[in-house]
Amino acid sequence: MSAMSEILRTPEPPVHLTSACPLDCPDACSLDVQVADGRVVKVDGDRRNPFTQGYICAKVRRMPELLYGEGRLLYPAVRKGPKGSGVFERISWDEALDLAAAKMREAQERWGGEAILPFCYGGSNGMLTHEAVDSRLFFRLKASRLARTVCAAPSGRAASGLYGKMPGVALSDYPHARLIVLWGVNPSASGIHLVPILQEAQRQGTQLVVIDTRKTPLAKKADLHLAPRPGGDLPLALSVIRWLFTEGKADLAFLAAHTTGAEELQRRAEPWTFERAAEASGVAAADIERFARLYAESSPAVIRTGWGFERNRNGGSAVSAALALPAVAGKFGVRGGGYTMSNSGAWGALDRAGAVAEPEPATRTINMNRLGKALLEQQDPPVTVLFSYDCNPLATMPNQEKVRRGLEREDLFTIVFEQVWTDTAQYADLVLPATTFLEHAEMSRGYGAYVLHRSPAVAAPAGEARPNYRVFADLCRRLGLERPGDPETAEELTATLLRKSERMRTDLDRDGIAAPDCGPAPVQFLDSFPLTTDRKAHLVPEALDREAPHGLYTYQDDPATERYPLALISPAVARLVSSTFGQLFRDTVPLEMHPDDAERRGLAQGDTVRVWNDLGEVRTKLRLSPDLRPGVVLLPKGLWSHNTLSGSTANTLAPDTYTDLGQGACFNDARVEVARA
Ligand code: SF4
Repeated sequence: MSAMSEILRTPEPPVHLTSACPLDCPDACSLDVQVADGRVVKVDGDRRNPFTQGYICAKVRRMPELLYGEGRLLYPAVRKGPKGSGVFERISWDEALDLAAAKMREAQERWGGEAILPFCYGGSNGMLTHEAVDSRLFFRLKASRLARTVCAAPSGRAASGLYGKMPGVALSDYPHARLIVLWGVNPSASGIHLVPILQEAQRQGTQLVVIDTRKTPLAKKADLHLAPRPGGDLPLALSVIRWLFTEGKADLAFLAAHTTGAEELQRRAEPWTFERAAEASGVAAADIERFARLYAESSPAVIRTGWGFERNRNGGSAVSAALALPAVAGKFGVRGGGYTMSNSGAWGALDRAGAVAEPEPATRTINMNRLGKALLEQQDPPVTVLFSYDCNPLATMPNQEKVRRGLEREDLFTIVFEQVWTDTAQYADLVLPATTFLEHAEMSRGYGAYVLHRSPAVAAPAGEARPNYRVFADLCRRLGLERPGDPETAEELTATLLRKSERMRTDLDRDGIAAPDCGPAPVQFLDSFPLTTDRKAHLVPEALDREAPHGLYTYQDDPATERYPLALISPAVARLVSSTFGQLFRDTVPLEMHPDDAERRGLAQGDTVRVWNDLGEVRTKLRLSPDLRPGVVLLPKGLWSHNTLSGSTANTLAPDTYTDLGQGACFNDARVEVARA
């Protein structure tokens, strides 16, 4: 086409196409995407997912900027400057894949497959592009395995141990509850569709309790807000359990029929009077008692547990105790009664192992929370190839400076397969451009909303971006690891995932959306039962008791010291999904501090401050916030280096210690001091 006819050509009007959001968010929105000339021009909600009601968050409305903005990774490239300098030179896909394959082959021949560390989390991907062909490649290479425990591991262990990941109360059933407890969760920032449901329930007379270290927007509207210190949720929950037993409010008939371990749980809760819990948690004894009475007297009552209160040394036990409450108080068996955590356990009928098509090898496991340590200290063999995809570890992993030093290692070959130029990509030796969920076919399921979506590619890939399944299948071939019958394409992977569920396939073909086998709104202990071997709830599961370093439900003291007296928390913000969209969010993000703590340090709003501990330092602006309790400061999670003045974020200050269950990350165990910079 000539330049003149290009100018004169009338642009096509946009067409509306359907898609679905696979990002790390419980709600799983159905999307209406307007596309013109193969490019996405607008993203909005559609009504296929009844829970999300046709509207979406502001983050995903920015998808056109992510797709076509400055930070998009468009071509394969190799590093030309020092690591971290961001100087790269474009190469062809063939050269890039040959290089990636050669580096992995070389590592395997010299050290064995374990010298290769695949590093991913899948926050921006659905089921076709995460833990499918990628896992197949690394399993066949006998690479190191990755423990993906940065989030949800302690909660997942607690839910599996107590209830075998029983599907929870549907969020759409919350209007049936007379009492709703939000525990360590802030739907105003993540999972926004619960907010209008809660508002409507409150209008109808439902009481709302929020348990959160800070005054979240919903805490301000709650009938009761309890603000424990980070790590104080466990004694709080145990004291309520103790009170239920001692006051004769425990449902002994339910406990006898449907649980094991009730007596042992009662014994472990026994020392936790309200007064003692108040001392450990920082919540007034009278407020804990008020919560206990409200919970005992309200039915249906539902507890929505989030992932905020797992991120400390007591996290696994705290979530276990919160999940034990509805069993002790007899809250199950009615619509709107019980608990909701992750509902991912509802999707057992999807054949994910079939999509991988290779059994998991018994190679060593490296925990993602200790990436820095693995890169700097791991021997026998050392990690010589790091393959990072669907993940931005420099922004998201604890002990950030150690991760950075690891990525700077000259003898490490780092491959980053990504959609945008992340902080991690700046340290790559080889970058590969990945498509987004709007540019490849995808299948995604909610872990809050009970919906499964299948969505086609709706736009042409930007630049030379390729889908994950294509790239990993190509690498399998280059390394001689492909086998006849491997599902490789989107169609083959979809067919494999659905091969055990004719019903889901039919529903997806007809409606583009399907519910799990338990239905879209199961009632716990009526429609869904514990997925344990005896179908009972195990209130003190042996496996968890063995795993917790001091036994399940054992409180470990606050790690604050005289030098570092302030607890740093790093919750989610409304403008990011974990670290996704970070390239579009360029503000300098302030540290938040209670005015009393600031006054004690002679600090004022807008000051430039340094926040530090033995692991490192962050410099940024200060914002005074009465929404925090004294002794707690806040710097959000998921920030990129451009969001602070020092290029370091809250994860610089986060220890790489483990939670009591699941080897999760203890972000909220960071203890720090703050002074004017
Ligand atoms: S991030 Fe959550 S609220 Fe936003 S579009 Fe995706 S599923 Fe919906």
